[in-house]
Amino acid sequence: MTDTRERDRSDVAPAVAELETIVSLAKRRGFVFPSSEIYGGINAVWDYGPLGVELKNNVKRAWWRAMVQERDDIVGLDAGILMHPQVWVTSGHVGSFSDPLVECATCHRRYRLDELPGAEGLSATDLRDESVVERLGLVCPNDGGQLSAPRRFNLMFTSHMGPVEDDGSLVYFRPETAQGSYVNFKNVQGSSRKKIPFGIAQIGKSFRNEISPGNFVFRMREFEQMEMQYFVRPGDAATAAFDEWLPERRAWYSRYGVDPSRLRLREHAPDELAHYAKKAIDVEYRFPFGWKELEGIHNRGDFDLGSHARASGENLEYFDPASEEHFIPWVVETAAGADRAAFTFLIDAWREEEVRGEKRVVLGLHPELAPYKVAVLPLLKKRPEIVAMARALRADLARDVMAVYDDTAAIGKLYRRQDEIGTPWCVTVDVESLEDGAVTVRERDTMTQARVPLEGVGRLILDRLAASRG
Ligand code: ATP
Repeated sequence: MTDTRERDRSDVAPAVAELETIVSLAKRRGFVFPSSEIYGGINAVWDYGPLGVELKNNVKRAWWRAMVQERDDIVGLDAGILMHPQVWVTSGHVGSFSDPLVECATCHRRYRLDELPGAEGLSATDLRDESVVERLGLVCPNDGGQLSAPRRFNLMFTSHMGPVEDDGSLVYFRPETAQGSYVNFKNVQGSSRKKIPFGIAQIGKSFRNEISPGNFVFRMREFEQMEMQYFVRPGDAATAAFDEWLPERRAWYSRYGVDPSRLRLREHAPDELAHYAKKAIDVEYRFPFGWKELEGIHNRGDFDLGSHARASGENLEYFDPASEEHFIPWVVETAAGADRAAFTFLIDAWREEEVRGEKRVVLGLHPELAPYKVAVLPLLKKRPEIVAMARALRADLARDVMAVYDDTAAIGKLYRRQDEIGTPWCVTVDVESLEDGAVTVRERDTMTQARVPLEGVGRLILDRLAASRG
């Protein structure tokens, strides 16, 4: 059920930051770079820098923790990106994984129909209507040229496996990870001895030849997904599982810091549903460019296992020992993007505030997501004993957490730098530390400082990290 009251709140939940602010911080501080930049870049592919790779790994770890580690009914899988090409015929992707594309007769630019100015609110039926461009008087946003009628454009990238490039060697780059879980259903269920209901979780790269990618890492052509397929008894059990997963998945984003007022649910209209879905609700976030999908929760019925069983001739039924029934399980899927989630946490954590007349930019990232948990800073880098103590402390802390040492500026500036990348704790070693064996621990959000014995710092950081997990 879509919460329409929340939809109406869209104007009172403005985005937390401008897109340009986040893109520039991401580049300057080493979160995300354009791919192959020295050659002018490649559209819709992005590289994660030293801080970005930490953030994205932490997002994936937080998802795995919630979806696999903390559950005894879900197990993990890491299937190949390349699969038997028949998988994509059976799944319906070869036939219908496409978007409506229109092309300008003069400048030849191509657009996704539903992203053209004037076409944003079109229904799925409109999007399939060949006369829609004419009917709405849509023109090319670049030069006002005449646009073609929409045609379907398949989003899958293809290649050829082996040395011969003929139809028999055609392979697809997977556009979703889910199919790996379906074709491995028997292998996973048999080896793990899981009883229904149980789930298979996967994190991995997916590829889509998007017609109009953009908005930074929001829509890319190469991206990472975090998907979980939950296998249940047919019918009502799927409805019940759907109703449980929806609030659970929405809550995951708030658990890691996203302001609930910038999250809402949106149900797909019947004519908008993907070919496999009986019901679909998106968790949406208020991005700087509007409300957009973060994650989809789908009731896929027996579409996938049923289709694969018919096409492969394999028996993909589950035997329920309690009721002695054989049946094809139904699937409730939670499908999220790792890049979109990392982007969301980054945007939502950003804030600018005034401290004693000076501007301070802070990434209020949840400590579990922060690239560095702790920075060790010497107050006087000219004193070798202070530097040695700080470096030894960093090495000690680094056995448990990502810890960084920095002495390239005065302490005030070093604090600001760590605030801007979201480091929750800074530890300063000063002259007194040499005498009393204690250091100053500063907290990012409150900026409060406390004196702590050197040997207690590691425990304190680990305790606070554990407490932040809730
Ligand atoms: P959209 O409507 O934004 O194209 P979708 O409905 O096709 O997305 P799904 O197929 O449900 O998306 O994929 C699940 C999740 O994977 C999305 O919610 C999103 O977080 C992520 N995702 C999908 N396509 C992309 C992309 N091109 N770039 C980055 N993340 C993506």
